[in-house]
Amino acid sequence: MSVTVVGSVNEDVLVAVARLPGRGETVVGRSVIRAPGGKGANQAAAAGLLGPGVHMVGRVGEDAAGDRQLAALAGSRVNVSRVHRTPGLPTGTATIPVEDGSGENLIVVQPGANEALTPEDVDVEPVHRADVLLLQLEVPLDAVREAAATSGGRVVLTPAPPQPLSEELLALVDVLVPNEHELVQLTGATPGERTPAELVALAQRVAGPVVVVTLGARGALLVLRDGSPALLQPPPEVTPVDTTGAGDCFTGALAQALAGGQDLPGAVRYAVAAAALSTTGEGARGGLPGDDEVQAVLA
Ligand code: ATP
Repeated sequence: MSVTVVGSVNEDVLVAVARLPGRGETVVGRSVIRAPGGKGANQAAAAGLLGPGVHMVGRVGEDAAGDRQLAALAGSRVNVSRVHRTPGLPTGTATIPVEDGSGENLIVVQPGANEALTPEDVDVEPVHRADVLLLQLEVPLDAVREAAATSGGRVVLTPAPPQPLSEELLALVDVLVPNEHELVQLTGATPGERTPAELVALAQRVAGPVVVVTLGARGALLVLRDGSPALLQPPPEVTPVDTTGAGDCFTGALAQALAGGQDLPGAVRYAVAAAALSTTGEGARGGLPGDDEVQAVLA
């Protein structure tokens, strides 16, 4: 039972502001919090807290931020022996002013060492042998493609940040996990509200993988390729505090459940419950549940 994540490792620098700045404007921040981040590392942390056998493959700088990210991952039971230190490049950083009250934010990502991840870095045993390989698009596409091609297990891809995906890459993916916005971008559809039935039709336009669309407070939609009806899985009742990173928790949990032998409907049910629980804590890694908490909700 093993999950390997190939992807980004960032430090999030959250600056509380009374009001977001406009172009050319300076505003004074009230406080700064440094928090572990990066889609890949967030997914790995979620999976690590839910079960054993999680490896992260990525790159950080030879800096204090890199030390902090390695420690945070290890603290979430993630094996970091394949997270390389990169001379001459800083650890990736996301600078995020967050407006008091509304919670609205702006995000500036400086990829740093993430951009140095190579196809050679991912041609390693934890990728070859993982039961489930988790991929996103915050590291170079050639490394993502190589990881998918050399994986011996199931390949799960979050298409974020959204970008056009080649047929060749999609053919290597078993499960695609977009949110609504990413699905719309991926299919070239016009943005706007859609019913679950309309989202199923959009998902069916993606050639190849099973599609699991995350729908925020509405849960998730599983669109299989065998002609069976799509399944809408609503979340358990929770009182959300902060939904940041809920999507990453969803994918980490989905991977753990699949690696543990659950079928897709069971894994989606597990992931919806885990992600709902994750919204009850602050920040991308606050509120990440353990397996016992998820099982209690599902019982
Ligand atoms: P993020 O970018 O914040 O990580 P996302 O847009 O990728 O999120 P969402 O579709 O918003 O992903 O949420 C992922 C999952 O988290 C949902 O499928 C659901 O299980 C859970 N979730 C999110 N918001 C809520 C909520 N308000 N109540 C209950 N569950 C939620």
